[in-house]
Amino acid sequence: MASNVYRNGTGSHKGAMRPLAASNSSNVKSFSFKSRIPPSSNHSPGSAPLRRSNSAGGSDGVPGRVRVAVRLRPRNAEESVADADFADCVELQPELKRLKLRKNNWDSETYEFDEVLTEFASQKRVYEVVAKPVVESVLDGYNGTVMAYGQTGTGKTFTLGRLGEEDTSARGIMVRSMEEILANVSLETDSVSVSYLQLYMESIQDLLDPANDNISIVEDPKTGDVSLPGATHVEVRDERDFMELLRTGEAHRIAANTKLNTESSRSHAILMVHVKRSVLGAEDVIPSETDKSSHFAKPPKPLVRKSKLVLVDLAGSERVHKSGSEGHMLEEAKSINLSLSALGKCINALAENSAHVPVRDSKLTRLLRDSFGGTARTSLIVTIGPSPRHRGETTSTILFGQRAMKVENMLRIKEEFDYKSLSRKLEIQLDKLIAENERQQKVFDDEVERINLEALNRVSEVERNFAGALEKERLKCQMEYMESVKKLEEKMIENQQKHGCDGFMQDKCNGEGPGSSIVEDVAEVKKLLEKEIHMRKEAQEEVNKLKSQLGQCPDSGEGGGSEILKLQKALADEVRQKKKLEEEMIILRSQMLQLTFEADQMRRCLGRNGSANAYGGLDSPMSQVRDSLNGHKTPVAALFEQVGLQKILALLESEDANVSIHAVKVVANLAAEEANQERIVEAGGLTSLLVLLRSYEDENIRRVVAGAIANLAMNETNQELIMIQGGINLLSVTASRAEDPQTLRMVAGAIANLCGNDKLQTKLRSEGGIRALLGMARCGQPDVLSQVARGIANFAKCESRASTNGKSLISNLTLSDCLPVKFLIIF
Ligand code: ADP
Ligand code: MG
Repeated sequence: MASNVYRNGTGSHKGAMRPLAASNSSNVKSFSFKSRIPPSSNHSPGSAPLRRSNSAGGSDGVPGRVRVAVRLRPRNAEESVADADFADCVELQPELKRLKLRKNNWDSETYEFDEVLTEFASQKRVYEVVAKPVVESVLDGYNGTVMAYGQTGTGKTFTLGRLGEEDTSARGIMVRSMEEILANVSLETDSVSVSYLQLYMESIQDLLDPANDNISIVEDPKTGDVSLPGATHVEVRDERDFMELLRTGEAHRIAANTKLNTESSRSHAILMVHVKRSVLGAEDVIPSETDKSSHFAKPPKPLVRKSKLVLVDLAGSERVHKSGSEGHMLEEAKSINLSLSALGKCINALAENSAHVPVRDSKLTRLLRDSFGGTARTSLIVTIGPSPRHRGETTSTILFGQRAMKVENMLRIKEEFDYKSLSRKLEIQLDKLIAENERQQKVFDDEVERINLEALNRVSEVERNFAGALEKERLKCQMEYMESVKKLEEKMIENQQKHGCDGFMQDKCNGEGPGSSIVEDVAEVKKLLEKEIHMRKEAQEEVNKLKSQLGQCPDSGEGGGSEILKLQKALADEVRQKKKLEEEMIILRSQMLQLTFEADQMRRCLGRNGSANAYGGLDSPMSQVRDSLNGHKTPVAALFEQVGLQKILALLESEDANVSIHAVKVVANLAAEEANQERIVEAGGLTSLLVLLRSYEDENIRRVVAGAIANLAMNETNQELIMIQGGINLLSVTASRAEDPQTLRMVAGAIANLCGNDKLQTKLRSEGGIRALLGMARCGQPDVLSQVARGIANFAKCESRASTNGKSLISNLTLSDCLPVKFLIIF
């Protein structure tokens, strides 16, 4: 078959292991080796927000098939000699990404890879097509794996682990990957650390710390992620650090000397680069309802991406019998092949979508579970040599690569909320806010204090103003009051001058409408009287009620007794109240009668020509007698009828001085009526009045009592009784102590009346009556003087009558001068 005809694989390779024809390479999609996850344009160190990750968001990853490149090592010196007559076992068509495996001179099989790297491919190019996309994914937050698989001596270590210290262009994938990582991370916000391990005879050793062997693999039960917590993690800050680490690791690698290659390793070397990057999550933008143009953006969430680049330099894949090992070496080779064959089985299972993938069969497969069938971006480079002598191994390597190409990973970003950094940021923010709050609180407190002070100032100012205004108002009122008083005084003087009436009537004659004011007063007193009558009636009813209750109340022991006592007390109170009411009623009635009487007098006065002289007539005993006799039923008579003389006289002895004085006034006015005088005296009124005159120091009472005695002294019988009871003496004492001219006037009036009695002349003289009368003249008050004059005239008249010749110097006195005078007391 022509060599350019693609054929299916040999019968020994079944199913998925068959080589692919270019025309129907349907089971392997021709993705470019360079294709990668949509690049993140903003993985600039730790500041710019990155796109929302799938893992953090919980969504599924993106599919990412394992990419496989094949690299052909150039003939070495030995091969150049030994195989000089033979063609290479493979022919590469890199532009077609195909490899022809020559079975013999006329037959070959073609295989398609993601990349076909010839013996001339530079290390740089190998890095760029095989490892760079993976490294970029790691920088984006995905796990990545680059693994070299191949027969010992085909260039796995050359491809991955060359340090390129002498020749920079010889740097392998490990160095270049680290260069790229370091160039893209920020050492301020990101971190890069490295573990370097060796898996030898199913034991994991720490190449950075040889004492630390048999490191165990820990699997996260939730995520299935594997980690080696026992391994040394060394933080790498620059390339030099890393080169040093690689050298250290290399020095510790156990290199077994095999026939095939004295320098080849019989262990699997695993370099793990942990990249931790802080990024800002996408902003949560909430559109404002009011302002559609503006947005309120929450601060982006801090995220951390913890990705891992695993670079695996596998041990040689040659078969045991080819290794030439014996004894211990044989066991070793078996162990090496255990991990490799387990890897092969897993890849087969994955390639065939088998339900069971024997990941747990070896440590290598456990360590690489995320690299094949997991979430990592994985690139496999299979290395082959050109020698036809190793065609079998080369074929098996090619077929391994072909199967690996069918393994589909689901790439998932390793991103999580950076709680630590979030908490750190929040703490800083909180501290800022606390400080700000403290500042604002201080400002607020100061403001409150200022406002308080201002308010206090204002309040005191208002208080001051108010006090000023109050004082002003008070002064104004005082002024107005003084003016009113002044005006009233002026008016009073004016009225006094105008009317010149008798002192008794003066008050009542003042004002513009004396009649009307009296009528109003009468109406008011009537109203009060009615009220009192009503109250009395109610009190009486209450008393009756209590009395009947008391009567009904049976003798019920102590409780009943106390009840009775209570009732008795209430009764006594009621009786007292009643008595008081009765007294008040009598006084009110007498006041009313007095006012009625005065109103009548006033009317009569006004009726007579309206002249001021008419008032003078009021004082005339004649007119008074006439009025009292002209058939009118006088108010005093009415008082007798309504109240009863005994009751009024009883009030003279009341404990209440006010009641007494009112009673005296009533009696005085009653005594002004001739008809009553006898009855008053008979009822003991005169005696009571004289007792009052003797016992009371109060001049008001003495004045009214004197008035009452003066009225009683109008009657001849009474005049004698007054004298007998020592009245003249009492009157004299009253006169000597009096300060008020009105008192003198009353006393003088009384003595003047007594002076009209012929029988009393001697007694009046001997008992000091005439002396007292004359003594009162010293006061000089016209009213008093007129009474004194009248008394002297009466006395003289009697004297003259007593003389034998019946002639006297003062016999020419008019009759009116000798008539007794009566007084009305104003309440
Ligand atoms: P392996 O690790 O697969 O056992 P090595 O990387 O040790 O193989 O390579 C074996 C030898 O081949 C080394 O001397 C190495 O320098 C050389 N070699 C490997 N690949 C190449 C290459 N592509 N170009 C030049 N020399 C290479
Ligand atoms: Mg090697």
